[in-house]
Amino acid sequence: MTATTTTTGPEPSASPDLSKPVGDPPLLEVRNLTVTYGGTVPAVRGVGLRVEAGQKLGIAGESGCGKSTLALALLRLLPTTAKLTGDILLDGEDVLTMKWGRLRAVRWAGASIVFQGAMHSLNAVHRVGDQIAEPILLHNAKATPAAARRRAGELLEQVGLPVARAQAYPHELSGGQRQRVMIAMALACDPRLIIADEPTTALDVMIQAQILRLIEQLVADQDVGLIMISHDLAVLADTCDRLSVMYAGRVVEEGPARQVYAEARHPYGRALSAAFPRIGDPASRRAPRGLPGDPPDPAALPGGCTFHPRCPVALDSCATEDQELREAGGERRAACVLVDAPAADDSRSTS
Ligand code: ADP
Ligand code: MG
Repeated sequence: MTATTTTTGPEPSASPDLSKPVGDPPLLEVRNLTVTYGGTVPAVRGVGLRVEAGQKLGIAGESGCGKSTLALALLRLLPTTAKLTGDILLDGEDVLTMKWGRLRAVRWAGASIVFQGAMHSLNAVHRVGDQIAEPILLHNAKATPAAARRRAGELLEQVGLPVARAQAYPHELSGGQRQRVMIAMALACDPRLIIADEPTTALDVMIQAQILRLIEQLVADQDVGLIMISHDLAVLADTCDRLSVMYAGRVVEEGPARQVYAEARHPYGRALSAAFPRIGDPASRRAPRGLPGDPPDPAALPGGCTFHPRCPVALDSCATEDQELREAGGERRAACVLVDAPAADDSRSTS
């Protein structure tokens, strides 16, 4: 059962490094990662992340900010036109220099991805049980088809579907049930890290909440790490421990999830949190407010701070001076010049 997977005792084939001391290094550490498509489109620029076992990191940002590129980069699943630099350390092992065979072993077993929109891409002509069994057979040479099918049934139960649904074809399932199948597939090889790219975006609100609770439960039960990607900061604040907010390929704000949601230090973080108020939260009674414009095309980034053309509190200097992440109080960091100013506040624009 996947429930036996722990930080200190992962199954042998699932662990990138069995000899490492407990708790050190982190499950995932990303340092200064850049991804450039076709030599001219810098979709991810100098991103750093850290996820410990049992920790849930949310990555927020509007469409086009580089979230999916980052997720795919973590397992080198990008097209060959994408050039990567930096470090991606999974249990201390460098994914970018990993040999092909090792990379195949690490995918699914070390870390697995629930791809954005994946529930629409289940194979229409295969029963879902067989589709869940496939990675198990691929990754475990000793697994028999019968054992893999049994395991697929267990996984379906784990994600709240009756074992009998293994016989169903994708079109016989609802959107929420298909997403549960995708999560079961992601769990199939007992990964230590699960990356879920917009796992609830296509679902209605009730089903969205069920899937989020399911993901939370699975992470808690199995002590895996989670990276959850969404444009909805409220969803991430409810589900995750920490948040990284991405804009134009960079992390512009990071910190404890609830703090970032409640009082972001970067104007972009504030705009995102105002756009997605939490239902029933008296602290967010402000009317949701859209941020005019769109994130920039990475092939034509504005100079200075890339957010300055949309920023309600930009200074003249923001058009020419880029900002690095800096300490922003507590455990937060933000890439905004106003973080250093005593009255770093754009309340005139958000209240
Ligand atoms: P997000 O997931 O935040 O919406 P993406 O990572 O999908 O962002 O995209 C980031 C940027 O990279 C976008 O400008 C997108 O057009 C560009 N991009 C994504 N995939 C490719 C690709 N295969 N080739 C060239 N550009 C791409
Ligand atoms: Mg995406």
